[in-house]
Amino acid sequence: MAKKILRCDRCGFELTEPEDIQMAYDGREAWHAAARARGIKPRGILPCKHYIRCGGEIVEVTRWSDRARRLLRRRGKPLAPEP
Ligand SMILES: [Zn+2]
Repeated sequence: MAKKILRCDRCGFELTEPEDIQMAYDGREAWHAAARARGIKPRGILPCKHYIRCGGEIVEVTRWSDRARRLLRRRGKPLAPEP
């Protein structure tokens, strides 16, 4: 069965601790409000811990698709343009 994990959609940083995951869900509304206020359309649940460097967001992904996504990125699939 596919397992849901929380992972950065740019750098691949994963939230693995149950407390971190809980905090991410607790902070989702605040992030979405902050993002909208800055004119950003939130893609995920939270900005990545390395947001300054990677510009990614923590998104829900299923474990089985993890490999496939990484392979796609390695093949040079262009990332979404910066706002
Ligand atoms: Zn990241």
